[in-house]
Amino acid sequence: MIIGIPREIASGERRVAITPDAARELVSDGHGLHVEAGAGSQAGFADADYEAAGARIAADAAALYAVAETVLRVRAPQGHEVAALRPGTVLISFLRPLDEPELSARLAERGITAFSIELMPRITRAQSMDALSSQATVAGYRAVLVAAELLPRMFPMLVTAAGTISPARVFVIGAGVAGLQAIATARRLGALVEAYDTRAAAAEQVESLGARFVELALDAGDAEDAGGYARAQTEEFYERQRKLMAERAAASDVVITTALVPGRRAPLLLDEDGVKGMREGSVVVDLAAENGGNCACTEPGEIVSKHGVTLVGDTNLPSALPVNASQMYSKNLLTFLRHLVTEGRIVIDLGDEITKGTLVAHDGKVVNETVRARLEPAESAESAKPAEHGEADKPAERSEAVKGEEAG
Ligand code: NAD
Repeated sequence: MIIGIPREIASGERRVAITPDAARELVSDGHGLHVEAGAGSQAGFADADYEAAGARIAADAAALYAVAETVLRVRAPQGHEVAALRPGTVLISFLRPLDEPELSARLAERGITAFSIELMPRITRAQSMDALSSQATVAGYRAVLVAAELLPRMFPMLVTAAGTISPARVFVIGAGVAGLQAIATARRLGALVEAYDTRAAAAEQVESLGARFVELALDAGDAEDAGGYARAQTEEFYERQRKLMAERAAASDVVITTALVPGRRAPLLLDEDGVKGMREGSVVVDLAAENGGNCACTEPGEIVSKHGVTLVGDTNLPSALPVNASQMYSKNLLTFLRHLVTEGRIVIDLGDEITKGTLVAHDGKVVNETVRARLEPAESAESAKPAEHGEADKPAERSEAVKGEEAG
């Protein structure tokens, strides 16, 4: 099978889908690997490294797409890249299918078989293919470094001849993969860390990292679904949560928000009054910026200052650490591809939970039911008035976020 690795062209994207080490493994599996010239350069991988791993360098994207039977990439293809994919090509990438279902429809129309890496089921067997987790790990680490850089004070407690420096206080909202990594990183830098999550199971994990789990007088009920993800709460719950988050934020120097509910706009957990109540010079890093933001003052793709607080809305923190982010993503893709391949070819076995879960377009159709359902209301809403803000506003909100990202 001929596998193609294009150069990512999304603004600010420095990752590459396959590193030279993973390239060597694909070649040893018997695949032909074609890498677009410069594909790894922003992550520090030279064309010569890929050639040494047994890959061929394609001069440009057109040359790559002309031969590739399977294309592995990081970011969803943009319009002209979709047009360049030959019918019958297999595409494996982040595709944001719940946010931009129209892309899945376009890929289906073009006869592309597309797998969306963000739909990887959260099962033990698929852990090594879970790119949302691997990239969230990088983002959680990076978020703390960005905050430390912007905060006008140090993180650790220091007892010196020039006086005692008190430790910075960091509050992490959402203790999933990114949040736990942020907690661990902030602790390593010496900060005092508190965290909150609606999932009760998170408390023990937070405490095992040396942080304090904030107990709120709020009943999140059965906050976790069968897949380990958070369930959405009622608007009343969020309203009460915002008041309590504002109290904790006022006592913190840094707030890192990571709260997400799959398939929905990120819950709004820190409103403008909450930001106003924070100390001058405090920092908020909103990891949910791409999904609408957990903080009302976040501007996706931007770093802004409001009410004396610095707000970071970076939508692609993993790209700032492209070596490890690519290394982890590449390992996720390699494992997934090996899972799909039998005797050198990709076999679509819809009886397999991982294949079925990730496949969005095949045989000219959008095959994922959730993505299809997202397309239907969008089609019928086309002629209708745009929805008022609320849960139903997700696609519009997210496309705003994407615009911000492209601008940034
Ligand atoms: P995520 O990115 O969807 O959400 C981030 C966190 O936000 C979650 O912990 C969620 O509970 C939290 N959250 C949602 N609403 C909130 C609110 N109102 N207030 C505070 N926090 C809120 O989730 P994730 O980080 O990718 O993973 C969530 C869980 O799934 C974790 O327990 C993780 O260990 C588990 N997981 C399992 C697997 C697997 O078994 N293969 C893979 C990855 C993650």
